[in-house]
Amino acid sequence: MSRLVVLAGPTAVGKGTVVRALSEARPEIWVSVSATTRTPRPGEIDGVHYFFVSDEEFDRMIADGELLEWAVVHGAHRYGTPRRPVEERLADDVPCVLEIDLQGARQVRATMPEALFVFLAPPSWDELVRRLVGRGTESEEERERRLQTARDELAAVSEFDEELVNDDLETTVAGLAALVDAAR
Ligand code: 5GP
Repeated sequence: MSRLVVLAGPTAVGKGTVVRALSEARPEIWVSVSATTRTPRPGEIDGVHYFFVSDEEFDRMIADGELLEWAVVHGAHRYGTPRRPVEERLADDVPCVLEIDLQGARQVRATMPEALFVFLAPPSWDELVRRLVGRGTESEEERERRLQTARDELAAVSEFDEELVNDDLETTVAGLAALVDAAR
């Protein structure tokens, strides 16, 4: 049976970019699609980047036990991992990756301790700030909130089995693929 790989790390470290590049390089590795109550950004497609759901639908998913984990991220919206697709793929021996926040990773740690927990770290604090400002998708206030969370999250690296420093994308993706392969 495959082992689940959980990738977490602070805001703007490049988790999304890394898992997208991993999917392209290694299409046989399945990356979970989360449900979220936030609205889509330009170019985001429902069912591809996220399942964009209402607050009522998210409540229902929680009540019906459909989420493997969920959390309020950056004090704003809820994000969660649909349980069934993960369980089905693991049962079929398909390697699975979850890209989630630290709170979610802790929940998965509690319920699936056999998963491999990988922390994606920025090369430096200044570089993390530069990436967050550079992508320009957040307001000043939102950026401050995310940086505050990031400070706390960086301290959690010791809770993880592995650490990858996201300096060069290709190297990071190769490192993550190697961890997924080793977890099998
Ligand atoms: P964004 O809104 O920028 O797409 O994502 C914000 C944050 O939500 C990221 O840190 C990402 O890791 C986290 N996130 C995305 N999906 C999930 C999920 O299913 N569960 C949890 N706990 N966090 C998630």
